[in-house]
Amino acid sequence: MAASRTPILAGNWKMHGTTAEAKALAGGLAARVGGRTDRGVVLAPPFTALATVRDAVAGSNIVVAAQNMSWADKGAFTGEVSPGMLADLGVRHVILGHSERREIFGEGDDVVRKKVEAALKHGFTSIVCVGETLAERDAGRTLEVVKRQVDAALNGLGADAGGSIVVAYEPVWAIGTGRVATREQAQEVHGEIRGLLRDLALPADAIAILYGGSVKPDNVDGLMAEPDIDGALVGGASLEVESFTRIVEYRA
Ligand code: PEP
Repeated sequence: MAASRTPILAGNWKMHGTTAEAKALAGGLAARVGGRTDRGVVLAPPFTALATVRDAVAGSNIVVAAQNMSWADKGAFTGEVSPGMLADLGVRHVILGHSERREIFGEGDDVVRKKVEAALKHGFTSIVCVGETLAERDAGRTLEVVKRQVDAALNGLGADAGGSIVVAYEPVWAIGTGRVATREQAQEVHGEIRGLLRDLALPADAIAILYGGSVKPDNVDGLMAEPDIDGALVGGASLEVESFTRIVEYRA
């Protein structure tokens, strides 16, 4: 990655963890990597553990993020969590457009866009996820799909929004499968995304672009050596103190 950007290592815990488990994991990570100032460390527990994790990392440099958020401020939206509710917990970071939200819960580009706008309105930093399916990659449509998703989420936001945006490139075929993209495959798409951010008049050189998809202790170093890979969004390997610590402590 380029020295001008601060790397970000983010753990997406998905639907894992009781509050007791969350407290132990977050507390363990705070002890191991909570003092780092050269790398951003983000933990995204389930909604039910946000307050627990917030308290467990208090006094460290670890940032707590939600895994999703409603675009609406309030009202008849059963099962949803609003930006204000998260802000009330002290949470100001959110993952948006994760492929599991897109694929399992039917979130389209339009919904992701509304959520990005809501996040900006409420002063959140968004980790906006994009990525192609295996069928799309096999059909040679990777760049087309990723560009469509980036454009839909970020077009026309204005340069000022750039400081509140992180992009995560997560090829769907690499998430939770153990099949990581090669560093060359990831770098190619990251480079394209940075070019697109530039085309959208966003501060492309300042925006972190994370790679996600089966990042593990044994492959993070190679990925982080690529010039446009600025960090990782990590699922499975973020659920244990040892493995996520090693990922945060990558050596590129
Ligand atoms: C993710 O949850 O975004 C992810 C990339 O998961 P995994 O690291 O388990 O593939």
